Amino acid sequence: MTTQQVNRALFDDVMVPNYNPQQMVPVRGAGSRVWDQDNNEYIDFAGGIAVNALGHCHPELVAVLKEQADTLWHLSNVFTNEPALRLAKKLTDATFADKVFFCNSGAEANEAAFKLVRKYSYDNFGAEKNEIISFKQGFHGRTLFTVSVGGQPKYREGFEPAPGAIEHAEFNNLDSLKALISDKTCGVVLEPTQGEGGVIPGNAEFLKGVRELCDEHNALLVFDEVQTGVGRTGHLYAYMESGVVPDVLTTAKSLGGGFPIGAMLCSDKVAPSLGFGTHGSTYGGNPLACAVAEKVLDIINTPEVLSGVATRNAIFNEELNKLNERFGIFKEVRGSGLLIGAELIEAWHGKAGEFLAAAREQGLMMLVAGPNVLRFAPSLIIPEADIREGMAKLADAIAKVVETAKA
Ligand SMILES: *Cc1c(COP(=O)(O)O)cnc(C)c1O
Repeated sequence: MTTQQVNRALFDDVMVPNYNPQQMVPVRGAGSRVWDQDNNEYIDFAGGIAVNALGHCHPELVAVLKEQADTLWHLSNVFTNEPALRLAKKLTDATFADKVFFCNSGAEANEAAFKLVRKYSYDNFGAEKNEIISFKQGFHGRTLFTVSVGGQPKYREGFEPAPGAIEHAEFNNLDSLKALISDKTCGVVLEPTQGEGGVIPGNAEFLKGVRELCDEHNALLVFDEVQTGVGRTGHLYAYMESGVVPDVLTTAKSLGGGFPIGAMLCSDKVAPSLGFGTHGSTYGGNPLACAVAEKVLDIINTPEVLSGVATRNAIFNEELNKLNERFGIFKEVRGSGLLIGAELIEAWHGKAGEFLAAAREQGLMMLVAGPNVLRFAPSLIIPEADIREGMAKLADAIAKVVETAKA
């Protein structure tokens, strides 16, 4: 097949229609820029959905991947390997966690966490203590267990029967959790900032209160940091800013910088419940993935990169507020670090996708978080000049959408 035959139209012929990708095919990336088949250039504010934390083809990541490719690719967990051991050591040294389980995605990390929460309760309190409480609008992945714990019913509609003993409280509403939590609760699951649900930060008092309620009821606290983790908020993990320490933490997305990997981190108190033979993954802890993730962590977990995230957050806020002075389309700009949401005013509700498509036509890749929120999750080291240039493109895109609506 020639390149000409491999195009966006082919997608509809050969792919299951669960995605509807933008009308071009990217072929190459470097830093925070991407080029498509027609050599059009894009500024990347999407970062592969908060994944490419060091941009595209970061030279140090490319080097470590090539080196590992020449050394050892895969073993399975019948054998351990050096990159996995080094990465686990660095993750436990850098966080509250004592133990690590590796897998290949965020959903798998959460699947492991939810199974662990159930198993820990089963081992220590008996089979009756099995209820998981999570939050409305929360997102935890697309497996059947994770869409069931997730707080967006549309993602499980039609896939029932779903796993049971799962309840959903209101996010940032401690009374709502109080009304549901009991001694039958085995775990409470939340994102420190809800990502897909609209970039909604959990407030400090709420997070602290959730921890206290968990302790009162012998329930484990799980932080899903798949999106907020690995520097995204300007801290290695978001829990570090809140001061609220979970029992279990899941991480993926930025952890591999674009190479698939996920991990579940937990304390020594709970780890024994995933005893020998209770859980597993063929690829989990794959040497290629772990070698890349180790380098990602080495680069991101430094004062320069983490403080650079705050600097870039300020530039994004400044530029988005300028756009709002000009167009008046945002109700609120929120989020922390480089996980930023701009909620549209009521009049534009449901139209976030139109802005996304218009931005793409202007040469800007960005994201939405639901139908009402524009979301930005770029590389943590995106140059200031790229931010300013991308914002100029966003201004042109917004102008087009606003004009079209008037016509
Ligand atoms: C993306 C995401 C997931 C799912 O990760 P996958 O790698 O797509 O399975 C889970 N939780 C949160 C908070 C996410 O943002």
